[in-house]
Amino acid sequence: MLKSHPYTVRRDGHTHTEYCYHGSGEKAEQYVVQAIKNEFEIYSLTEHTPLPERLSSQIPNGPELIRELAMPFHELQHYLGMAEGLKEKYRDQIELLVGLEVDYIPGMESDTRQLLDSCGNRLEDGVLSVHFLPGKSGWRCVDYTPADFKDGLIDYYGSVDKVYQAYYDAVEQSIESDLGPNKPRRVGHLTLIHKYQDIHKPTDPDCCRENIYRILSKVKAHNMELDFNVAGLFQPACREIYPPEWIIQEALRLNIPMIYGSDSHRVEHVGRGYDVFKEIMGTVSGADGSDERVEK
Ligand SMILES: [Zn+2]
Ligand SMILES: [Zn+2]
Repeated sequence: MLKSHPYTVRRDGHTHTEYCYHGSGEKAEQYVVQAIKNEFEIYSLTEHTPLPERLSSQIPNGPELIRELAMPFHELQHYLGMAEGLKEKYRDQIELLVGLEVDYIPGMESDTRQLLDSCGNRLEDGVLSVHFLPGKSGWRCVDYTPADFKDGLIDYYGSVDKVYQAYYDAVEQSIESDLGPNKPRRVGHLTLIHKYQDIHKPTDPDCCRENIYRILSKVKAHNMELDFNVAGLFQPACREIYPPEWIIQEALRLNIPMIYGSDSHRVEHVGRGYDVFKEIMGTVSGADGSDERVEK
């Protein structure tokens, strides 16, 4: 079962592999070798899970995008086998955790639970993320392109603020959802909806403050963690961590564990932004792992 680790352990909790078709196609082993070079001690492989057919059949962007979003179901076993093989091969150099980035899809909890039930005994880590919302003509990806965000979501909900609202409602539901005993404990990129914030600005920058506070208290109540996801820092229209620092500080005040996630989709992403994580976490008292966050 999953252990918690002190912040002093160099750990990456969110990464992708060749089983992600919007990544570079580089092999997981190349990422792992890079992580060892970068002196990571723990590295979670958290590939996107296959999507339920009733979701993918309602994504209007076309088969090209759908193919890119996630591996098909029949590949899940291969992915897990690959991850387990690497874990064994590199066990003297790095602790690899076999995991998944699981989509929370509002209303499709039973599909997700079924998937988790089918492979939960092989999972050692996981991230629970919202990437899809109902939108124009079906389900829309919240992080595809700025033009798609406008067309599929802003035009559908009426404003950026309302899209944010819908997204945070889904995140809140994800925390409360019953996905069974193998539900991931970590909320992925809490503010992914900010990805295009420089292009599509909310009218009220504080429009979701209440949602965020509520979400954090639920994360705490459910004994969950947050993905300190640096990918947003490198998105030209976002340029901030998912989540931004005020949320990180609030989460730390609540003693919610924050796990660095590179969200690597190519080998060169491995370890990026770790300095930012260290700098922010270094200011936290007790962040040396000497508190109750460390458990077996
Ligand atoms: Zn991805
Ligand atoms: Zn993600």
